Amino acid sequence: MQKTMAEYIWLDGVQPTAHLRSKTKIVEGTVTRLEDLPGWGYDGSSTQQASGHFSDCQLKPVHFVPDPIRGENHILVMCEVFNADGSVHVSNTRAGLREVAACYVGEESWFGIEQEYVLMEGGRPAGWPKDSFPAPQGDYYCAVGDRFVAGRGLVEEHMQACLKAGLRFSGINAEVMLGQWEFQIGPLPPLQMADELWIARWLLLRLGEDYGYDICLDPKPFKGDWNGSGAHTNFSTRAMRAPGGQAVIEEACEILGRNHDKHIAVYGSGNDERLTGRHETCSIREFRYGVSDRGASIRIPMATAQSGAGYLEDRRPAANADPYQVCAALVRTACGKW
Ligand code: ADP
Ligand code: MN
Ligand code: MN
Ligand code: MN
Repeated sequence: MQKTMAEYIWLDGVQPTAHLRSKTKIVEGTVTRLEDLPGWGYDGSSTQQASGHFSDCQLKPVHFVPDPIRGENHILVMCEVFNADGSVHVSNTRAGLREVAACYVGEESWFGIEQEYVLMEGGRPAGWPKDSFPAPQGDYYCAVGDRFVAGRGLVEEHMQACLKAGLRFSGINAEVMLGQWEFQIGPLPPLQMADELWIARWLLLRLGEDYGYDICLDPKPFKGDWNGSGAHTNFSTRAMRAPGGQAVIEEACEILGRNHDKHIAVYGSGNDERLTGRHETCSIREFRYGVSDRGASIRIPMATAQSGAGYLEDRRPAANADPYQVCAALVRTACGKW
C-alpha cells in the first residue's frame, strides 16, 4: 500500500516569538481529506508548551498541501495545538483567529502579506563582506547582477516550491538591504492566508538548510542605515472593494488609529527598533494614514485612491509577526469596531 509522509507542522511556545516545529508521520494510504489524517501528540516540555511532569500536547491537523520537496503524494500538514484534556493551548493563536473570522465571515475579508526576510550566512547577511560593510543601500532593491544581489538560488527554489504546494504565492523581489528579500502571499481569506504564510515560512527555513542560509525574521537585524524587515499586511473587505469603498477604508483607518497600541502589541517583538520614522516607516509612537505614503502607518495604495475602492496596507507589522494574531486584530478592529 502507498505510504504518505505527512510533515505535521505547529507553532511552539517560545516567547516572545514562537518558532515553527515539525515531525514526520507515515500514514498508510493516500490522504485526500483532512479526516484521513489522525491526530498526534508530542512532548510539550521540549517546546515550552508544558512542564516535564505532564508534558503531552495534542496536534490536530487543520490544513494540508502537497509537499513540494518530497513530491509524490506526500504532504505538509498545518496543525493546531491542544492540551491533553482537549482544551485550546494558550500558544494556539490560530484558534483566536478562527473565532474572530467566523464572527465576521459576512464581511468577506481578504489578506495579502508581504514577507520580508534576510538570508544569513555565518552570522552575516548573504553577500556581505566578512568584516566590513557592503556599499550603502540604494542599488539593491529589485536589482539584478552579482554585484547587487545575493541568495537568488534559494529565493527562486522557494518560489517554485510554494507554487508546487499550491499556495496563493503572488510574487518576490530583492529588498533594500543586500541579502534581504520579500515574497507575498494572498489575497485570501484570513485563516487561509495565515496558514499559507506559515507553510511558506516553513518551506523557506527548510530549503535554507540545504543552502546553509539561516532565515532571519528580526524586525531590525542591523542598526544604523539599514532597512528593517516588515510584514506589510494588505487588507480589504467586500465593502472596501465595492464602488465607493474608499470611504469604508478611511473609516477603518480612523478606528485603527484609535486602537494603535492594541495592534502594536501583536505586530511582532522588537518592532520598536524598526518603526523609527526612517527607512520607509512611521514612528511606533505615531499613527498616520495617507494615499501612497510609505512613511505612514497605513498606506492607501495609489490604485485604490484612483479607482475609489480597493484595500489598505498596514505597514506596521514586523517580519516576525504571527499572521494569526495580525489578521485577528485587523478583523476585530475594522469589522467588529471593537
Ligand atoms: P507593495 O507595493 O507594497 O510592495 P506588493 O505588490 O508587494 O505591494 O504586495 C501587495 C499585496 O497585496 C499582495 O500580497 C496582494 O496579494 C495583496 N492584495 C492585492 N489586492 C488585495 C485586496 N483587495 N485585499 C487584500 N490584499 C490584496
Ligand atoms: Mn512589496
Ligand atoms: Mn517590501
Ligand atoms: Mn508594501
